[in-house]
Amino acid sequence: METIDLTSYTRQDFAAEVRQATGEDISRCYQCGNCTAGCPYTQFFDYPVSQIMRMIQAGQREKALNSHAVWLCATCETCTTRCPCEIDVAEVMDGLRNIAYREKRFTEKDIRTFYEAFLTSLKRHGRVFELEIIARYNLRSGHLLTDADLGSKVMKQLHFLPKRIKGKDDIARIIKRFIGKK
Ligand code: SF4
Ligand code: SF4
Repeated sequence: METIDLTSYTRQDFAAEVRQATGEDISRCYQCGNCTAGCPYTQFFDYPVSQIMRMIQAGQREKALNSHAVWLCATCETCTTRCPCEIDVAEVMDGLRNIAYREKRFTEKDIRTFYEAFLTSLKRHGRVFELEIIARYNLRSGHLLTDADLGSKVMKQLHFLPKRIKGKDDIARIIKRFIGKK
């Protein structure tokens, strides 16, 4: 993945960087707030998603990439379906998260551990294997009993062996392309 020289970085450069990473043109956003109004996680964000879009327009790279919102977004895509300008807002949040990951900007406690447990499982099997993610995350974060109270209910829904897909090497290549090497 190409390293960005930030020494002569201008306001327009951040919008261009996001466009290159996601294919989305944020200049079309006119701050109607529809995305924020539908976002089920906005109460947990430090900045609402429409404000993150504005930061991109304004070239506020540090602020956007250091936001908690980038990591707390659940990629539910409600914002995308509500945008009258047809901006794929969830894709933009995903793109910001990938950049934040590459630059090691982890503003949420244990988020790196969770993210890497998730990606490792995807790379190994081509799809998530929930038990492996739970085990990796709980062991590495030290939260050994996290969600233990959900145990019996959750266990009924889980597979005890991973299910691999045919194109798992392609999935691993896609992950490498977007977030680089670990
Ligand atoms: S994709 Fe993220 S930002 Fe968009 S509505 Fe869902 S949680 Fe909110
Ligand atoms: S819904 Fe679309 S146009 Fe409205 S604030 Fe969000 S990104 Fe901008």
